Amino acid sequence: MTDSLTEGLDELARELDNEHVFHSWSAQSQHSTLTVASGRGSRVWDHSGREYLDFSSQLVNVNIGHQHPAVVQAIREQAELLTTIAPSTVNLARGEAAKRIVARAPSGFHKVFFTNGGADANENAIRMARLHTGRDKILSTYRSYHGNTGAAVVATGDWRRVPNEFARAHVHFFGPYLYRSEFWASTPEEESERALRHLRRVIESEGPSSIAAVLLETIPGTAGIMLPPPGYLAGVRELCDRHGIMLILDEVMCGFGRSGRWFAFDGYDVRPDLITFAKGVNSGYVPAGGVVISDPIAATFDDRVFPGGLTYSGHPLAMASIVATLDAMESESIVEHAREIGAESIGPALEDLTERHEAIGEVRGEGVFWAMELVTDRKTREPLPAAAMGRLKSALVGRGLLPFVMENRIHVVPPCVVTAEEVADAMAIYDEVLSTALEGEG
Ligand code: PLP
Repeated sequence: MTDSLTEGLDELARELDNEHVFHSWSAQSQHSTLTVASGRGSRVWDHSGREYLDFSSQLVNVNIGHQHPAVVQAIREQAELLTTIAPSTVNLARGEAAKRIVARAPSGFHKVFFTNGGADANENAIRMARLHTGRDKILSTYRSYHGNTGAAVVATGDWRRVPNEFARAHVHFFGPYLYRSEFWASTPEEESERALRHLRRVIESEGPSSIAAVLLETIPGTAGIMLPPPGYLAGVRELCDRHGIMLILDEVMCGFGRSGRWFAFDGYDVRPDLITFAKGVNSGYVPAGGVVISDPIAATFDDRVFPGGLTYSGHPLAMASIVATLDAMESESIVEHAREIGAESIGPALEDLTERHEAIGEVRGEGVFWAMELVTDRKTREPLPAAAMGRLKSALVGRGLLPFVMENRIHVVPPCVVTAEEVADAMAIYDEVLSTALEGEG
């Protein structure tokens, strides 16, 4: 295609979008005008052929990288065979997908309920916990994101807690976040102990026998990539056990390789009752999510109807893409790669950036799941204002890097397959932009 033709496509895409597409999470007049037409690995191209390093993994979901050939091929083959089936029917692809997911879970998990994404995975996990325990209340943290449907958005504890008619029996508490500790803690151990004491008080005050579940992101993602401090998740498990409360771990963002492990909770001494997943399970090539159910909860429904279901639950294209994704991640050691690139390239490079830029208050993370927290003053930890974050974001895009920017943070979240060279290129861009776009700041 000629340049003028491709430029024309870019403009046409923007024009049609502007006229007819209603966007989420932004005022319609202010949504992004960036176009994305194609991708490969950790890179995408706009309609005019301009290349970008995708250090957002879109919405932190493209773990296997864009357009993995084996996954694309599996979707193509499944499309030739059958493109839709009712959830009540039996189908080989669905069984194969569930078997592979269960193989990653701890012992004592044998069943998977499939959904269309992460929010409805949490909806259904909440419903299962309520039906299993016969209790109503759900506890979740203030700094969390669990999705944007009825109960999931009520569970969400970040700025997106919109007024919601489904709000019922829901209580928020503070999770650990040492950099901005609610508990005046100065060490991870102190933060862990005090956050657990706070949760214990909340449980006691709410009445333990009214609480169906505690719902936690194993590593809160959108809210800031806060790795749980030592002993915290084990302590939550212990509190839940003491009171017959179910523990739901939301692995929608942190699962399937992002943390450098199959499930993020594999790195902690904790065992959930329900695991919710989406995103990385098939990198969003086809919408998919679900709940992995522990045996005692699954048994609740042996002779009792689970009143839930979705027309596209276990959709064949999604199932075929899950099978191919998990097989490729296994055979190409993609999870191991994510762990190594985090430890050997991303982590050290971010530490180096922190030494050179006063605006970086803290970096934290593991695998391909990192946050840079930007401040006007390292001592007061005053968050960098929105206008400056907006300038940083535009400058990064201008230099050919798609960033994930949330509040005063840049999340460094490339696909698991990112190479050391791509990390070095991205770091050079962050470095330059932090120097030029923040001049006069702080
Ligand atoms: N849970 C977590 C931890 C998430 O990060 C998200 C989305 O970002 C969701 C749930 C919701 O997933 P979905 O957008 O697929 O409904």
